[in-house]
This record gives sequence, C-alpha cells and structure tokens, in this order.
Amino acid sequence: MGKIYDLIVIGGGPGGIGTIVEAKVLGLENILLVEKTDNHSHTIRKFYKDKKRVDKDWQGQAIELEGNVEFVDGTKESTLDYFDKLLDDEKIDSRFNCEVLKVQKNGDIFDIYSNCGDYKAKNVVVSIGRMGKPNKPSYKIPASIRRQVNYNLDRCGNGEEIIVVGGGDSAVEYACELSSSNSVTLNYRKDTLTRPNPTNQDMIQNYASRGKVKLKLGLDIESVEAQHGKVKVNFSNGDMRLYDRAIYAIGGTTSKDFLKACGITLDDRGEPIFNSENYECEVKGLYIAGDIAFASGGSIAIALNHGYRIVSHILSK
Ligand SMILES: Cc1cc2nc3c(=O)[nH]c(=O)nc-3n(C[C@H](O)[C@H](O)[C@H](O)COP(=O)(O)OP(=O)(O)OC[C@H]3O[C@@H](n4cnc5c(N)ncnc54)[C@H](O)[C@@H]3O)c2cc1C
Repeated sequence: MGKIYDLIVIGGGPGGIGTIVEAKVLGLENILLVEKTDNHSHTIRKFYKDKKRVDKDWQGQAIELEGNVEFVDGTKESTLDYFDKLLDDEKIDSRFNCEVLKVQKNGDIFDIYSNCGDYKAKNVVVSIGRMGKPNKPSYKIPASIRRQVNYNLDRCGNGEEIIVVGGGDSAVEYACELSSSNSVTLNYRKDTLTRPNPTNQDMIQNYASRGKVKLKLGLDIESVEAQHGKVKVNFSNGDMRLYDRAIYAIGGTTSKDFLKACGITLDDRGEPIFNSENYECEVKGLYIAGDIAFASGGSIAIALNHGYRIVSHILSK
C-alpha cells in the first residue's frame, strides 16, 4: 500500500503555503504540497509587476492575522523571499510541475490523481486560486489583435498607447506602473473608483491630476475591433479610439469542472459550498482555502488565515 499523508495541499499560492506551514508548525507530520507550475506562488510571479508594493490590507480589507505566519507589507520580491524562507525553514515536502487532475474519496481516504503520480491522504485542501482563468470581457476579441489584448503586463513594451480596463487595485497599479514609459488611459464602467485601497486611491488621484494617467470613468466598452494593426475600442457613448494595447484587470474565475472533479459541491452560482468557520466542504476532510472561497475579493492575509483555521479544525477532530 502507498504512503497515506495526513494532509495534501493542492496549489502553492498563499492559501496553500499558509495551510502547509501551519500544518507543520502545529504538528502534522505527513504532509505534502503539490503545485502545477515550476515554483510556488504562480499568481504573484505572473500577475504582479516587478517591485510591486504588496499591501497586507489589500482592497482596503484590514485583516488581523490569526496564525503563525507573520506576513507584513512589502514588495513582490520580499513576499516571494519570505515564502521561500517559510518553505525552506519548515522543510516542506513539495512537488512542483505537478498538476492535480482529480480527487476522489474512497472510504476515509482521498485518492489524488496528478500528472506526476497518484497520492493518498486523510485530508485534502484545494487552494488553486482564480487567476488560472483570468476574467475576459463578454464581447469577442478578434484573432488578429489577441496578442495586443492581455491580462497581465507580460507583453507590454515602451512608448505604447495603452488602455487598462478595470476598477480595482490591480487595474490602478497596472495603469500607474505603465505610465512611466507609456501613454495610459484607465477605463472603468462606473463613475468612481471605490474599490482600490486608500494608498492606491491617493496614487491614482495624484497620477490623474498630473496628467500621467487619463481617466475614462462611467463608460463601458461595447466591442473591440482590429484597425490598422491597432485595437479599436468602441465605447458605449458612441466614442471610439485606437490603442496599441488593451489590458484587462478584471479578476478571475476557477474552473468549475476542476472543483467538481475534486468532489466539491457547487451552489446555484457555481461557487463552492463550505463551512465559513473552518472551510470544510460537504465531503468531510475536504477543504478549500484562499481566493476560491470568494466570488471576488480575496487577499494574501485572508488566504493565510484560512490555512490556520483549516489546520486547527483538522487537529480538533
Ligand atoms: C495584480 C494583482 C495584485 C495583487 N496584489 C495584492 C496585494 O498587494 N496584497 C494582497 O494581499 N493580495 C493581492 N492580490 C491578491 C492575491 O494575489 C490573492 O488573493 C492570493 O494570491 C490568493 O492566494 P491563493 O493561494 O488562493 O491563490 P493563488 O495565489 O492564485 O495560487 C494558486 C496556486 O495554485 C496552483 N494551481 C492551480 N491549479 C492547480 C492544480 N490543478 N494542481 C496544482 N496546483 C494548481 C497555481 O499555479 C497557483 O500557484 C493581488 C492579485 C493580483 C491579480
């Protein structure tokens, strides 16, 4: 018979790291972290710009940390360094480049099927985040401009005319960052930017008042087309404008098929059903942590607290 772990955590982002580190600190020995990319924290590596300020109270949510992970304000780099250190110091057993495909409970034990082998565990935490599937606009993006329509900063160059679409912290940070070497417009469908945290609110007001970022608020986009190799944006008031690039920073969703393949029951809106105190799903021993517990609005600190609550619940059983 193969080894049976006390706990397997699927996803090496803040939710997964918080859970596995709390498990080790609080005394669970047989534990494993499984991550589909070649390192932990894929969302932070891929979607945060270099040197990005990382706020503990993201989106204005003041969070009291409950567990043993002492996460503080910092940068992308300091946050990744801190997570490296936590995983190294606690000697966490991790499998990278290992994508979980399915979880099935047989009797009291879960079978975890992945592209790097099958595992068995008494408890499973699914913490796969939402940014594996960034939200896309409802209108069609023509194939000829798909390389100029992006969901992160990977393809951005300098000297471009860029429209950033979204009204949250990510959109504001992307717009201000890009404005140092590009001409940037921030577009949001509502009249005011209420979602960003106070620091980002001040930052965008400052950039807008100095003309570094142009604001196009209270205006929806109806469609985008290709024109002369550029992205032609058609606004709901009949205006149109050409941009070199459009960046959508409008959150993400989780694959419902994957959640179902893990045995997680979904409600009418397709969101996971779980206990809001301990994050256990309808199947005993199966938990969710981090962003997948929210339709929108998770944060690193919130994800870390999920880990603490989950491990405390496992140990109390
Ligand atoms: C641009 C941007 C800026 C942000 N800035 C901040 C900030 O300043 N402060 C803050 O607190 N929050 C910030 N956030 C939000 C924060 O990043 C998220 O709340 C946090 O990353 C959620 O952690 P998570 O573990 O739930 O998911 P994720 O961080 O998305 O991690 C999920 C992990 O699971 C892995 N995975 C997915 N599917 C599988 C599978 N089948 N098998 C194995 N592994 C899998 C992924 O590769 C990934 O590494 C920001 C988000 C964005 C997009």
